[in-house]
Amino acid sequence: MSLVEGGEVKKITDYEKLIKYFGVSKIDPILGRFKDPHRLLKRGIVFAHRDFDKILDEVDKGNIFAVLSGRGPSDRMHLGHLTLYEFNLYLQKKMGANVYIPLSDDEKYVFRKVENLEKAKYFALDNILDIVALGYDPEKTECFISTEFPWVYRTAINLSRYLTYSTVKAVFGFKGENNPGEIFYSCIQMAHILYPVLVHDLPTVVPVAIDQDPYIRISRDVAEKIKVFKPAGIYLKYLRGLTGEPMSSSQPETCIFATDSLEEAKKKIWNAFTGGQPTVKEQREKGGNPDICVVYEMLNIYFIEDDKEVEKLRNDCISGNILCGECKLKLIDYIVKFLEKHKKERQKYKYKLKDFFIHEIDEDLLAKIP
Ligand code: SF4
Repeated sequence: MSLVEGGEVKKITDYEKLIKYFGVSKIDPILGRFKDPHRLLKRGIVFAHRDFDKILDEVDKGNIFAVLSGRGPSDRMHLGHLTLYEFNLYLQKKMGANVYIPLSDDEKYVFRKVENLEKAKYFALDNILDIVALGYDPEKTECFISTEFPWVYRTAINLSRYLTYSTVKAVFGFKGENNPGEIFYSCIQMAHILYPVLVHDLPTVVPVAIDQDPYIRISRDVAEKIKVFKPAGIYLKYLRGLTGEPMSSSQPETCIFATDSLEEAKKKIWNAFTGGQPTVKEQREKGGNPDICVVYEMLNIYFIEDDKEVEKLRNDCISGNILCGECKLKLIDYIVKFLEKHKKERQKYKYKLKDFFIHEIDEDLLAKIP
């Protein structure tokens, strides 16, 4: 089974297979060591790890650790993207982590996801505003735009000697048509991942979707060679989009953007894929199927904190006690509240965004961001 091709990993959702393929460990045996476990841990969205028990040993000793969680800025952020940063925020607030966020404008440019670096820089500021507006602490958060921070390129050059082209080619499945920037980006990504340990001497965990694991693996190999802490990994499942297909920024009907208008968001939810029956009569008689229902998945994963409430919703669905329209109204209520609050927080954080960066930011560019 080959999961990587041309630097991109195919999205496979057989998690048992992925755990085996990537050689990672299930999260369940260490769940009891998390303080006040986050909803995403309890609901099985955070499903695997690599060496996170070593990070937990540091937490038990009262030591701080680093969360390294980069963002490739090529478009607006949607709720699926924000889930990862909600989990990172939990690690900051409950487990005492410092959070480091590299914004890889370079990656988006060399992989041709944006037409120029300026566009990637615009989305770097736009996206980081979405992230920190979730409630990040500027004292415990550091952000940088990759091409604006020369340390990244100096370190990528230094680290490049510890990799061979054969390794990079085998790990990422590069082919003749990949450009040299894509190949060198593996060294840049390694510099990002090793930033907290090299600069702040902090053991690091990288929370990611499992398709990003190849970058963690090569960084661990190099960390071993240069005798620093090998970064741990923590892995989240893919979340389905509103249509039942994967979420994609290029298909706006599949996702709710953090900056969607309330009308746009409501319209998308009314069109969302459910596990309901074709008629009300059939729904009452046969019940719905929450296991295939995106509306149920969103309520369960993104919004409802109370486990008993989720269980009740599930039972009400299966028994035909509830109709899809009622669930959609419930979801709309949560999303409207989230979007209204988030828009206000974005404006508040806009004025203190520079406090999160370790380099100067382009204030003119920031002014253009809504
Ligand atoms: Fe989904 Fe609710 Fe319909 Fe059940 S009743 S299929 S949970 S929308």
